Amino acid sequence: MDFLDKPLTQIARIHPTTLVGLKKIGLETIRDILYYFPQRYGDVSSGSFIKDTLTGAAVTLYGKVSKLSTKKSFQSKVPMAEGILEDSTGKIKLIWFHQPYIAKMIQEGALVKVQGKVSDRNGSLAILNPEIESIAIMPDNIGDGLFGAGSNKGLSPVYAETKSVTTRWIYHILQRIFKDSEFAEIPDPIPKELLEKYNLPSIQTGLIWIHTPHSDNDATVARKRFAFEEVLLIQLKNQQIRYELAKEKSFVIDPAENVDAKGVRQIDNFKDRFGFPLTKGQTDALDDILGDIKNGTPMSRLLEGDVGSGKTAVAALASYATVTTKPKNQKYGHLQVAYMAPTEILATQHFESFIKLFSHMPISIGLITGNGCKKFPSKVSPTGWTTISRPQFLKWVENSEISIVIGTHALIQKSVKFKNLALVIIDEQHRFGTAQRQKLTRKHTLVPHLLSMTATPIPRTLALTLYGDLDLSVLDEMPSGRKKILTELVSERDRKKVYAKVLEELQAGRQAYVICPRIDESDPNKTGAIIAKSVKEEAARLKKDIFRDYRIEIMHSKMKPVDKERIMKKFYAYEIDILVSTSVVEVGVNVPNANTILIEGGQRYGLAQLHQLRGRVVRGNHQPYCFVFADNKSEKTTERLSAFKNAKNGFELAELDLKLRGAGELYVGKQWGISDIAMEAIKNLKMVEAARKEAKAMIQQDPLLDSHPLLKVEIARKEDVHFE
Ligand code: ADP
Ligand code: MG
Repeated sequence: MDFLDKPLTQIARIHPTTLVGLKKIGLETIRDILYYFPQRYGDVSSGSFIKDTLTGAAVTLYGKVSKLSTKKSFQSKVPMAEGILEDSTGKIKLIWFHQPYIAKMIQEGALVKVQGKVSDRNGSLAILNPEIESIAIMPDNIGDGLFGAGSNKGLSPVYAETKSVTTRWIYHILQRIFKDSEFAEIPDPIPKELLEKYNLPSIQTGLIWIHTPHSDNDATVARKRFAFEEVLLIQLKNQQIRYELAKEKSFVIDPAENVDAKGVRQIDNFKDRFGFPLTKGQTDALDDILGDIKNGTPMSRLLEGDVGSGKTAVAALASYATVTTKPKNQKYGHLQVAYMAPTEILATQHFESFIKLFSHMPISIGLITGNGCKKFPSKVSPTGWTTISRPQFLKWVENSEISIVIGTHALIQKSVKFKNLALVIIDEQHRFGTAQRQKLTRKHTLVPHLLSMTATPIPRTLALTLYGDLDLSVLDEMPSGRKKILTELVSERDRKKVYAKVLEELQAGRQAYVICPRIDESDPNKTGAIIAKSVKEEAARLKKDIFRDYRIEIMHSKMKPVDKERIMKKFYAYEIDILVSTSVVEVGVNVPNANTILIEGGQRYGLAQLHQLRGRVVRGNHQPYCFVFADNKSEKTTERLSAFKNAKNGFELAELDLKLRGAGELYVGKQWGISDIAMEAIKNLKMVEAARKEAKAMIQQDPLLDSHPLLKVEIARKEDVHFE
């Protein structure tokens, strides 16, 4: 067996509870743990011995912690935790008031770093409310005062721990792996030339430096190496897809050939159907698309634009160009369009708006969802739609009687066959996996053109990485005349006022969203105040204490898709007044009557995510409001949130998110399965472009990567990693 694939149990004897903990964080093989990089490095460069501590001094101590317990203080009944810290020179008491959970977070006997002020407690020394963190090894320079040059214990890796898998445990098992004779034999997936060209360490050096760096520089260089590796793999994969696609043939669609008596393109006449002028972004995106689809090779384009920026109109124009083109060498019939949306309500909304746009033309439109099929026009009423049976629907799609087929996932079932599928549109594309996207485009001799759409604003470097296989069009301005969302950052003090405003809107017949960071258990802070509300508790509280007369329901990611859809439908039909939800509503449906959104624990969200949440209330004619409650003590939170309050554009916020991002704000990356380390690197445009350039060159020379078998294997492993 490959060394990297060996289970950890082959390298060390592991206690059963540790094994459970390891499994929980996904660490089963040697590879898993080697690639389980430290979250950060603790500074263990200065520290003193317990015997040298003096009352009133601020100290950093290292040692073993034991006798952890919780109780209520004798006089004030304040909940508290206690423990004893011990080093080779003595013992000292540790006390935490109001933080009883500390005793549960740290393992008895753990090696820790403790920082705090020494106090005199009834004649003996103690440290009150110290910072404490688990460390890997005891630094060897305690008492030196300063971190001496040449010492190699300045940085101590800190890993995301579970109760049974501590930083120290990980450190020790890694030491064993590093000493194993097979470690030196691990082959390096990055070709040697690239390592040399970009000054990157080998895989062995990289692994040792990332886990046990001697200096900041070691850590940085090692992190850069693994980030490069990850970005390179994603880029190679994307370039392969692009290369494959460029070899395929597709339908030639050229609306310039279709003009009226005055020589005006029919597609320009069709624009009058919208009742509004297109924005510049929409016009440019359409030009990009029309440029792609007239060439006879498949288009693969991503249309990115904030919620409400008008992507549907662009999709409709591309559809128009397609269905007014006849199949090759044929004087009759239409090319077909498939338009996939992630939810039934969204698909239904597209069906309805397409009927309005195409009703003057001899074009039939179908809708297929898990709940059945509809067709426009109906034979009995030429201006309306009718429900038809699934077999009938499938027959009409197959013989191309239905030209525009709109649907949910139901659209990619095997039974749905097209005659002349020429354009595939995928709405909210990040909700679908690559495999799903490909299912729609790949089963034909002539590959259909692909237009993917997303409202997730992401920074340019990330787009280059993730969507390297797609060309990009961006709608970066909103249609004019939109009501601006009034965004307010509010503190606990103003809660009553905010509820009064929400009530006023509810009384006026509006609906509201309340967004909470957690599903069931609320998260208290050090003083016991709730900082992260939960959907379930908050909904119950609002129902009981605040909005008694209103219909309140909940939604969250642990619900089944059908249940989420049912709730969304009820909300859309105004059978619910307040929807209390986690951020899953983000890519829901637009409910024009909902004009107010209240976000709890605002500091928990990425800025781009907040912006998307806020986008939920932008659709209607009513003045939209967004209230964000945040525990905004820190300057950084304040800075971030005021940027959110003032920004109009999601892209701006996405860039800022990336710039300001600290651990725990990795929303964008997590969503796509990009590691923290690669996210760090994605701040660096040069690096991303270098990886992209190399990947391009490699695939051009050797499309299947036959001369790089290791990369081939790694790409296969990463398959689909960046979607869902
Ligand atoms: P999204 O990009 O989120 O899918 P939609 O396509 O649903 O946005 O458009 C949102 C709303 O804006 C719709 O009601 C649509 O009719 C309207 N709209 C789109 N483009 C324009 C425009 N150029 N001017 C005015 N309104 C527009
Ligand atoms: Mg849309």
